Amino acid sequence: MPHSTTDILIIGAGLAGLSAANDLQQAGHQVLLVDKGRGLGGRLAGRRIGDASFDHGAQFMTAREPRFKAAIASWIKAGVAEEWYSSYPGQPNGHPRYRGVPSMTAVAKYLAVGLDVLRTTRVDSIAQQQASWLVSLDNGDSLSAKQLIITSPVPQTLELLADIALPADKLARLENIAYESCIAVMAVLDGPTALPAPGAIALEEGPIAWISDNLQKGVSQVPAVTIHGSATFSAENLNGERMHIGQQLIDAAAPYLGSAQVTEYQVHGWRYSKPTVVDDAPCMLVSESTDLPPLVLAGDAFAGPRFEGAVQSGWAAAKQLIGAAR
Ligand SMILES: Cc1cc2nc3c(=O)[nH]c(=O)nc-3n(C[C@H](O)[C@H](O)[C@H](O)COP(=O)(O)OP(=O)(O)OC[C@H]3O[C@@H](n4cnc5c(N)ncnc54)[C@H](O)[C@@H]3O)c2cc1C
Repeated sequence: MPHSTTDILIIGAGLAGLSAANDLQQAGHQVLLVDKGRGLGGRLAGRRIGDASFDHGAQFMTAREPRFKAAIASWIKAGVAEEWYSSYPGQPNGHPRYRGVPSMTAVAKYLAVGLDVLRTTRVDSIAQQQASWLVSLDNGDSLSAKQLIITSPVPQTLELLADIALPADKLARLENIAYESCIAVMAVLDGPTALPAPGAIALEEGPIAWISDNLQKGVSQVPAVTIHGSATFSAENLNGERMHIGQQLIDAAAPYLGSAQVTEYQVHGWRYSKPTVVDDAPCMLVSESTDLPPLVLAGDAFAGPRFEGAVQSGWAAAKQLIGAAR
């Protein structure tokens, strides 16, 4: 069982993990990220089917806080983001929605430059070993780290921490966090959709919450739509037969597809899509006032249930550890 050590281990190379890693590395810490996924970015997911490309997780980002606005400006300058739209047709101007270029994952790839990321590697269990954390991986290897940041969705984090005695008040806060699910359909079309510019629509009623035209958006070279099931539809059908559930969403999307026919489709189920109940703090220093080595939990369940919240939470987690004993 090969074994390596690192100063700071971050579980999850999504937005929170990558944002934390950048700040920590900048401050001179040795950081290693580990992620079970093949790609980077977690819920900023992209997929290809033949010549078609899809954003099938997060669709856009909005910006409220000055540091995050500055980060978006730097991504635009680097060519990995641009403003997508700020209002639907016929509606007054809203706040800008930004997208990744060519797709949302471009931002994650940009954030990962210069970072040490162990991909397609799942953390199976976590144990305390004196003043360090001992992390067992699904490939049989193990890692020890002086400090640990975990950014997986909170129910998965609690499974990983099953053998660690967490302070009761913090455990209660963590158990209160909740998520909605989302079934995502990625469908290749034989012609353009009937969606007007900017090529996306959010629906308030029925089985669909969102439809996005990846060709108009600039993600795909050929006609391709992403359809997101509503929270209710997704919760009811998450464990159903995927292709059958996907076909139901395609049928419901027909008015927006015009005369275009679906030639091929895939379905993905996001069990933990967006948090519906978040914690008030931007991250959680679980080890505070305990004998545990430093342990911080971060992700969109802390600083707000979206792209910006995940980044802010990663920054907050890094701040907890910067300057801590090495
Ligand atoms: C369908 C959908 C649509 C969305 N739309 C929008 C939108 O339009 N705008 C917006 O702002 N936000 C949107 N969001 C939310 C946004 O994607 C998230 O808020 C954000 O990406 C969360 O980032 P994170 O780093 O907190 O978590 P994640 O991206 O989930 O990162 C956690 C990482 O941990 C890894 N991981 C988990 N367990 C383990 C383990 N045991 N071992 C190793 N690695 C592990 C995962 O692979 C993952 O990469 C959407 C989300 C979904 C799913």
